[in-house]
Amino acid sequence: MAARRPLIAGNWKMFKGPGETGSFCRALRDADLGDVDVVVCPPYVSLAEAVQALAGTDIAVAAQNVHWAADGAFTGEIAASMLRELGVYGAIVGHSERRQFFGETDETVAKRIAAAEAAGLHVIACVGETEAEREAGETEAVLRRQVEAILPVADGEGLVLAYEPVWAIGTGKTATPEIAQEAHAFIRSLLDVPILYGGSVKPDNAAVLMGQPDVDGALVGGASLDVESFAAICQAASHS
Ligand code: PEP
Repeated sequence: MAARRPLIAGNWKMFKGPGETGSFCRALRDADLGDVDVVVCPPYVSLAEAVQALAGTDIAVAAQNVHWAADGAFTGEIAASMLRELGVYGAIVGHSERRQFFGETDETVAKRIAAAEAAGLHVIACVGETEAEREAGETEAVLRRQVEAILPVADGEGLVLAYEPVWAIGTGKTATPEIAQEAHAFIRSLLDVPILYGGSVKPDNAAVLMGQPDVDGALVGGASLDVESFAAICQAASHS
C-alpha cells in the first residue's frame, strides 16, 4: 500500500495539438479518476488550451521540459516564468528521450530543476538505466549518479522523481513489480521524495505496480493518450 496519495501524470510526448487537447481535457473532466492527484503534460503549443479546458478542476497541467535561463537567446526553449504566466503547474525534466536524443545531461537536468523550482513550478525529474546498463549490473551506479546530480537542487517541496527504466519506455516491456520496488527503495535511500514509476504502465499492470510500498504513482506515456485507459490507470492507483 503506497503511503502517499498517488500521483498519476500523463506524458503526451509529441501528440495532441490544441484542438485534440481541448476535446481530450473536456472528456477527462467528466471521467471518474478516483482518489488520486492527476497531471497532464501536453506539448508546449497545447498547454494554454489544457489550462483553459481544465480550469476549475483538480487536474493539473505540466510542460514536458523547461529551460534554466530567465530569458535570452535560446532558440526553441521556454522559460519557467513563461509557463507560470500560462497557469502551468510544473514540468517534466530529464526525460530519457531528452537525454537520448537531445543531449540532456545530469548537469543540464539539475540546472532546469533549479530554475523551475525558483519560479515556483513543481518538477517531475526522470531517472533510469538503459538495458545495456542493467545487463552490465550498473543500475544502482547509474541511478546514484543521476540522483546525486539532483541532490544539490532538490528543495523537497514540489519535487517528484520518476524511475523510468529506459528499456521499458514505449516498448511494452514493463519492469516487474519487484524490479520497480527495488529501484524505488534504492532511489528513496538517496532522496526521500515521492517516486513515480514509468515504463509501459497500462490499465492491466497499474494496480500491481502501484501496490508496491515505494511506488507513489506513475508517469504514463502511451496509455495516457486515451481518456479511457488513462482513467483506468488512475482508478487502479486509487484502489491500490
Ligand atoms: C514516458 O514517456 O514517460 C513513458 C513511460 O512512456 P510509456 O508509458 O509509453 O512507456
